[in-house]
Amino acid sequence: MNALDQIITGFDTWHLALPVTSARDHGIGRVEGTCEIVVLALTVEDGTTGCGEASPWVVFTGSPEASLAALKRYIRPHVVGQRLSDRAAIMAKADRAVAHCTEAKAALETALLDLTGRVLNVPVYELLGGRTASVPVPGLTRDIDARGSRSGPEHPSTEIPLSVSLANPDWEADRVLLDRLRDDGVRFVKLKTGFRDHGFDIMRLEALAKDFPEFRVRVDYNQGLGVDEAMARVRDVATFRPDFIEQPVRAPQFDMMARLRAASEVPLMADESVFGPEDMARAVRERICDGVSVKIMKSGGLVRAQEVARMAARHGLLAYGGDMFEAGLAHLAGAHMIAATPEITLGCEFYQARYYLKEDILEEPLPYANGSFFVRNRPGLGHTPDRDKLAKYKVTS
Ligand code: MG
Repeated sequence: MNALDQIITGFDTWHLALPVTSARDHGIGRVEGTCEIVVLALTVEDGTTGCGEASPWVVFTGSPEASLAALKRYIRPHVVGQRLSDRAAIMAKADRAVAHCTEAKAALETALLDLTGRVLNVPVYELLGGRTASVPVPGLTRDIDARGSRSGPEHPSTEIPLSVSLANPDWEADRVLLDRLRDDGVRFVKLKTGFRDHGFDIMRLEALAKDFPEFRVRVDYNQGLGVDEAMARVRDVATFRPDFIEQPVRAPQFDMMARLRAASEVPLMADESVFGPEDMARAVRERICDGVSVKIMKSGGLVRAQEVARMAARHGLLAYGGDMFEAGLAHLAGAHMIAATPEITLGCEFYQARYYLKEDILEEPLPYANGSFFVRNRPGLGHTPDRDKLAKYKVTS
């Protein structure tokens, strides 16, 4: 029997609450204490397992409870008993089974791809079109060899430049983080703005320019501005010449986004306004942005995320790989997607596992080095969640 003809027999979920190192303010919402995710594990007849992660944020995409219900109640009947090779059919049925819940669908597709990659002994990026570029991995080669996988020094990884977000309401704490990032070789930071007052945002931009000139700065309002104040504040921030300014106003305010984009001297990016390809088409039509944050949690999977990026590039727009409040599995899914998507040129934001969670959920640390995230040449996603950590952080109430 072809290995891909195996039937999916196992469908297990974990709702996790992962402790974080500090509060973070992101425009319209705060995260504090823990962030909550859902992990999905699918198993086929020979015992091979593949995993995926749903990483919702309640004020942005949805709730962990909704992700869990979508997976367990509405999607599971369309997965268990199906052939692993029927991935597209399973995704189409899941899409019709429950509206929205894009994070649950991202978790499902991630688990299907991880499982398929493990069965075929190829990385997930191979299943998404193949690698865009390969580089040696400084300091990681021996580790790859030690795993005994088909990877090795002759099979280098894909390097994706990392951007880390500065969102701590305590600026002094973010200055300490900046010192650490500088030591780690990180060269891109994104300042989260619009959650306090304009003076606080300008003070931090001035401090970044004066004390941390080696960093390229991006600015993200996370919908934090009212339409009455947005134009003046965006113009102020543009004088600092950040790489881009992201989502100043609420997601549905396409008209205001278009006016800001027309007036802005630096690229205006859309995040919350663009979830999937349907939003991307409207964003292009209405000229609301110069680029887009591509996230598998918004698009409802890796394939649809690629579609968003390709649509953006076709119309001359920029793209980078954004994240939610994620753990390592979601980072890996996004990174494999980017590794197979040359249209995403502005790097990634998969920093949470290293710089925000008190502990990630994987068996071994993710491969960060020299300010980049590396996608290894290993079967599937290349990493496995630690079952003890899944048990430790499981929400029981
Ligand atoms: Mg954003």
